[in-house]
Amino acid sequence: MKILVTGGSGYIGSVTTELLCDDGHQVTVFDNLERGHREAVDPRARLVVGDLRDPRPIREAMHQVRPDAVVHFAAYALVGESMRDPLLYFHNNLTGGLHLLDAMRRSGVRKIIFSSTCATYGQPESMPMTEALPQRPTNPYGESKLMLETAMRWEQERHGLEPVFLRYFNAAGATEQFGEDHDPETHLIPNVLKVALGQADAVPVFGDDYDTPDGTCIRDYIHIVDLARAHILALEKQETGPFNLGTGTGFSVQEVVATCRRVTGHEIPVVLSPRRPGDPACLVAGAEKARDILGWRPRHPDLATIVQHAWDWHRAHPHGYRMA
Ligand code: UDP
Repeated sequence: MKILVTGGSGYIGSVTTELLCDDGHQVTVFDNLERGHREAVDPRARLVVGDLRDPRPIREAMHQVRPDAVVHFAAYALVGESMRDPLLYFHNNLTGGLHLLDAMRRSGVRKIIFSSTCATYGQPESMPMTEALPQRPTNPYGESKLMLETAMRWEQERHGLEPVFLRYFNAAGATEQFGEDHDPETHLIPNVLKVALGQADAVPVFGDDYDTPDGTCIRDYIHIVDLARAHILALEKQETGPFNLGTGTGFSVQEVVATCRRVTGHEIPVVLSPRRPGDPACLVAGAEKARDILGWRPRHPDLATIVQHAWDWHRAHPHGYRMA
């Protein structure tokens, strides 16, 4: 298939592009390289540098490539930043997404796999979280993703769009080639590993008075390769609609730090810090729908394996892609 991947220089986009190329698909990456890395774009893919906030470049790329499907990652993805600057998120994630949909409609491209998030649910009423839960985001990041889902649903009803919403839980881990490199890095596992690498003195633990067994937030960490595979399964199927992607097992911040200590053999001190605004206490996926309909089964559900692969990548790339 011919696939257009927006955001293919980012963390999840780079690994999905790698797997798509492994499977023999013809991939064009459309990316502004603002927060991603040129080095993270698989050399087997073609790179078009462009920004979705401008409607023209994506229109031209879509017209020229005429892909069989689009995989849409390009977005800002930091809860804390979105709380500080909501408009930044609506402008990039929503306006950019609408330009993409407009370009698809003009070129007659119908199928889209959309990188959505469990943050669209907000603080859920029940756990594990299924797709049937109400979506009430607690931060502008989640809201911007939900708004684009809504736009896609209407575009499906009125113009035959075929959207799949993959609602990710917490992506983690790496392949041999591609891993997580954000600046600033806000995610838990890479920040913990930075301490193990000697690049920081201690990991901040954002709040220990949540309503969880050890008081720290619980998340469902999913291996990046498993996440990327779900996109390929979704491309191969005719299904539309939402699918939660997680392992179904949650780990607290303290448990993640403990696993990182075991994997790395480093002491990894922590320092208690204030809660991060917008963080729900507990997010764990009920991913039966993805299993039953997409045939998706995480191959690396074990947190120690996920951390080991992240650790291998960070040790090989101690300064991220800058040393590549
Ligand atoms: N977290 C933390 N210290 C850090 C980074 C994150 O305590 O340096 C916590 C954060 O508050 C959240 C969990 O770890 O409860 C996972 O955060 P992350 O940013 O990795 O992913 P999110 O769930 O926000 O998408």
